[in-house]
Amino acid sequence: MAFPASSTLLAPLAPWFDAVRRPMPWRAENLDAPHPDPYAVLVAEIMLQQTQVATVIPYFLRWLERFPDPAALAAATEDEVHGLWAGLGYYRRARSLQAAARLIALQGWPRTLEGLLALPGLGPYTAAAVAAQAFQSPTPALDGNAFRVLARLLAIEDEPRRQAEALRVWLAPALASHGPSRLTQAVMELGATVCTPAPRCPLCPLQEACGARRQGAQARIPPPKARTKVTDASLRLLAIHSPQGWLLRPPGATGLLAGLWSWPTVAPEAVGAACAEGAAEPPTPFGLAGQVLKGWVQVYSHRRETVRPLVARVAAQPAPPGLEWVHPTRLQGVPMGRRDQRLREALPGMAQAAGTGTPLAVEDLAAFAGLLNIE
Ligand code: SF4
Repeated sequence: MAFPASSTLLAPLAPWFDAVRRPMPWRAENLDAPHPDPYAVLVAEIMLQQTQVATVIPYFLRWLERFPDPAALAAATEDEVHGLWAGLGYYRRARSLQAAARLIALQGWPRTLEGLLALPGLGPYTAAAVAAQAFQSPTPALDGNAFRVLARLLAIEDEPRRQAEALRVWLAPALASHGPSRLTQAVMELGATVCTPAPRCPLCPLQEACGARRQGAQARIPPPKARTKVTDASLRLLAIHSPQGWLLRPPGATGLLAGLWSWPTVAPEAVGAACAEGAAEPPTPFGLAGQVLKGWVQVYSHRRETVRPLVARVAAQPAPPGLEWVHPTRLQGVPMGRRDQRLREALPGMAQAAGTGTPLAVEDLAAFAGLLNIE
């Protein structure tokens, strides 16, 4: 690749960013000095992985208020951490952030890219973004936005990620010339607000130099990514309550639901899939009956779940293996993923409905428990 020097090509980006930068709670005022709070940069970058800026801002503010520094986060319980993260999704990020905070509280901040890369939860992009913004290190951070901007600017026709290393080498001198923090954020900002998938080239500070614009090739650069295969699933989400509380699956140590409580689920046919919404669920061969709530489709990156919740009341009895009774006073405080939170939020009215009128009791959950997905 023989591209023009990055410091020349990207020069208009620095003053453009100084003029248009959006205020964000983690952005430092002075972009020519190391960030006064590297921890804020780390928290923001981890939260921004897979989550939009507008969603992140209130979470970031609550997080910094409760855990203002690595030591505070290091000392927090897992429930507190998950409780504050609840709703952001991808909970592994919260656990990694706490693990990183424990290392930082113990050993201090790593000052090199390699040291940051060794922290839990930091891949090449996040480590480089933290190094540039927190410590003014000229380490190029390439995420989807940056790849799109650079591919168009340099008219790279094939998948730009294949040239990641060459692009990092190319970009580094521009970071050194125009300020690592400023230029890193400028590239991100341009990708987020102007050089978007449908770019607004007349507003772009790089329009004179842009190869894709000269060729009218913005629409095909970068080439579209292969679409992720999404699988469909259908399930019953069960809110079963008894005088002892609500029946929940406690958190596992690993896997997608690590650290999170969840409602037990069953295949729809196990409890009578034909039942209409709002109607009492007909008793199954196992005797479980309840109230069907309005369902929804829960969309994850690789999976689309049609969720049909059911609230049911049973007699006092031991919890089936792998499940626990959680007292109602504790229910609101346990960390849950988005799908399970949504059912929890729907419960106040429905629990009452399911708990009055015709008794919907079952004497023994043991047989039914064999159908529950509690692994
Ligand atoms: Fe992107 Fe258009 Fe700017 Fe080129 S001119 S970098 S395509 S916004």
